[in-house]
Amino acid sequence: MTITYFQIVCPKCKVHKCFTQYHALRRHYFSSHRMVLPSRMSNDHDLPDMKLMESKAPQQPNSILYACPCCVHYEKSKADLLVHLEKEHAFDDPYPESGKWTFEQFDVHKTFHSYQKYCREHADEYMHIDSSFFQLLCISSIFVLQKRTNYHHIPTSYFDSGQLEAIRDHIVQEEGLESNFDEGLTLKIMKVLKLLVEKKKTLEDTILDLISLSTLLESDEKSVAFAVESLLPPMKDLNVDHMAESELTSSFIHPFIQALLAMGHENVIAKCSNTTTSDDGQKRPDYSVDMYQNYTHDYTTCLGEVKTKHATYASKVVDFYKLCILSAEAMKGLTHFLFFQAQGNEVTFYFAYYRVSIYFVVEVGTIVIPTRKPDLSNIITYLDTMATVSRIHRNIKRSQSTDQVLYAPILPVDLGSKRSLPLKQKPSLSTIR
Ligand SMILES: [Zn+2]
Ligand SMILES: [Zn+2]
Repeated sequence: MTITYFQIVCPKCKVHKCFTQYHALRRHYFSSHRMVLPSRMSNDHDLPDMKLMESKAPQQPNSILYACPCCVHYEKSKADLLVHLEKEHAFDDPYPESGKWTFEQFDVHKTFHSYQKYCREHADEYMHIDSSFFQLLCISSIFVLQKRTNYHHIPTSYFDSGQLEAIRDHIVQEEGLESNFDEGLTLKIMKVLKLLVEKKKTLEDTILDLISLSTLLESDEKSVAFAVESLLPPMKDLNVDHMAESELTSSFIHPFIQALLAMGHENVIAKCSNTTTSDDGQKRPDYSVDMYQNYTHDYTTCLGEVKTKHATYASKVVDFYKLCILSAEAMKGLTHFLFFQAQGNEVTFYFAYYRVSIYFVVEVGTIVIPTRKPDLSNIITYLDTMATVSRIHRNIKRSQSTDQVLYAPILPVDLGSKRSLPLKQKPSLSTIR
């Protein structure tokens, strides 16, 4: 086998600037040349007879190929690579006339893209994830719609609080992101939990009661009942001072997510993951839910990040940023996507979907997972949200028209810089305090 050597080189820089990973070149391209390049597809691997040459200057420049950071394509010269990048990967029509979204005489796409243009032109000011996550996500065509809309992330000359709220409400209605859990069933679950909290029944009997209740149910109601049951085994009435991230994940978050999203589905696995969804290999989500087809991994449907309540503000914002970017990459070819961020026992779920050149991220709701027996009945408040999350997840499918969809390019996860700001200057995210 003859080995062909290639390099990952910036075609725009006059000096021969080499990289060891594709996402590093994409990062450089943004920070130095202000262009967002799309990532390679997850199945774009270099061939076995191709070998990366990391050294700066090749001895014989003609013998080396320059790899495209966005697809499996190689060119003999930097000039040719530049032509390829501009021809194949420049997303220069982010505002297509067809399928744009006009909403109450207000053009959502046009306004978003004019703000995006502003962010790209002022990108120098937004190089720190923790202070500018909203602007950076906007550059990646990700539009975050939270429940709280008075943060003024976006200047009101683009979107005011009322418009943000209206867009979120519209998506919530259209995509069915709200549901009412059956009242009779709510009462039944409450009764069972109350007996345990009031010490009229043992933990073991309560588990049996919930399981026998679940067997009568179907679909989302069944998943919700199983998720409530999953909370019971670790329930104690003790003063536990500090809970580490691993304990939080293994005792509370994982059993809950597993019961809600994966139980009853033979081809779904919910796990504390160490897999990756993009070429940014070192940036792995804490949690993922995967769909299998014919016994092999098909696609990922949900990602999650977990931090304790005491984690720093910056690390929580970086987690959120990372979830948005990884989810936007992972949702390609899917109808929609789900992700969650857990801060301590507060788990906030987000619905994400791609609609004509914008990745919309919509906050669905927060569920506080009880960690002590006396708090157990509080879970009743969240049954509606649990049912919604279960339904969103159950309906994730491969989209029919994958070939025609041109996905907007996304920045690499790792922009390389974060900085903690004084509290007053911090941007806010609903559940990050
Ligand atoms: Zn360069
Ligand atoms: Zn390419």
